[in-house]
Amino acid sequence: MPFRHRYTGLISKYLDRLPVQDDVRIIGLGEGNTPLIQLSKLPRVVARDVDLFVKFEGLNPTGSFKDRGMTMAVTKAVDEGAKAIICASTGNTSASAAAYAARAGIACFVLIPDGKIALGKLAQAIMHGAQVLQIRGNFDAGMRLVKELAEQAPLTIVNSINPYRLQGQKTAAFEIVEELERAPDYHCLPVGNAGNITAHWIGYCESSGSGQDGRLTEACTLCDGQCRFASAVVDKRPRMVGYQAAGSAPFMRGAPVDDPDTVATAIRIGHPQSWQQALAVSRESGGWFDELSDEEILQAQRLLADHEGVFCEPASATSVAGALRDIRSGRIPEGSTVVCTLTGHGLKDPDVAIAQAGDAVQTVDAELEAVRGAIVDRL
Ligand SMILES: *Cc1c(COP(=O)(O)O)cnc(C)c1O
Repeated sequence: MPFRHRYTGLISKYLDRLPVQDDVRIIGLGEGNTPLIQLSKLPRVVARDVDLFVKFEGLNPTGSFKDRGMTMAVTKAVDEGAKAIICASTGNTSASAAAYAARAGIACFVLIPDGKIALGKLAQAIMHGAQVLQIRGNFDAGMRLVKELAEQAPLTIVNSINPYRLQGQKTAAFEIVEELERAPDYHCLPVGNAGNITAHWIGYCESSGSGQDGRLTEACTLCDGQCRFASAVVDKRPRMVGYQAAGSAPFMRGAPVDDPDTVATAIRIGHPQSWQQALAVSRESGGWFDELSDEEILQAQRLLADHEGVFCEPASATSVAGALRDIRSGRIPEGSTVVCTLTGHGLKDPDVAIAQAGDAVQTVDAELEAVRGAIVDRL
């Protein structure tokens, strides 16, 4: 086989741990294999000794972790003869669905909330040729409509209620276990529909077990026996910690929220689709949920960009904002290995970034004296 050392994406890498046939036509864009970056400055900001990593999922082909699930969902949809896919989206699912549909040569319909969608995500859906329907309603209303439509027309739903999405997304946990040669003690994620926290737990469960044959001692209850694919064997699983935006925190309220609001538009979801699964993850892993204000989320986004060189979108920073707070308070103890998922790239949402710029951009005359003055002032 030519070019056999080329990385071509997570389906070919994890073929034996995913529910696909060996000879399936893979719809892929080289997704997965994202960097696990160790943060050096942020632990010092909270003056605690922890090994803190971010898994930068913003470096997937369309700039978010959604590509991990989408390569699986679209590969399976095409395999089963689908000619069109549909999703409701706060932005990233539509960007990803549009790209993979373009790759596959099938149609893509996306329902997005009126306004409240980050500019980069809208640009992606349009450029990849999706039919974009902006509804006068929020994500939850769009999700309801998509479910009804798919019952009446030949459309495959590629939201995370599509089980192949979670199968693709579980591979992020495999990659982390391979790199650390163990599971982290804590894994922190932003939570919207709660599909990703569920998918990571499936991945960690499939990586855990004991004995040389990789048989599991405890199977997780979520993966329908798929755990037998366990190969990278670790003997423990992390506590899974889910962070929500305070204005959109149904897991903290213990009930759906009808009018969710937050600057972190990717997690502006009041009726999470994986509600029961996420509660099971929290219980089984010994983890917890918590909430952050928009100010805390944006502060963490700036800290990451400014102190560590990592630019993620606001929703993604929720994981780091929460982890830093829990590390500082000791709820996550010193000596822990902590992984935070940074779900999407900062370039997705330039408006929110620029709105925070303050006096970062200075206008001067195009003359040496003026420019030198401005620079020398800041040296
Ligand atoms: C989709 C998304 C989330 C939320 O993930 P869920 O699986 O819905 O909990 C968080 N951050 C970003 C950037 C996303 O695109």
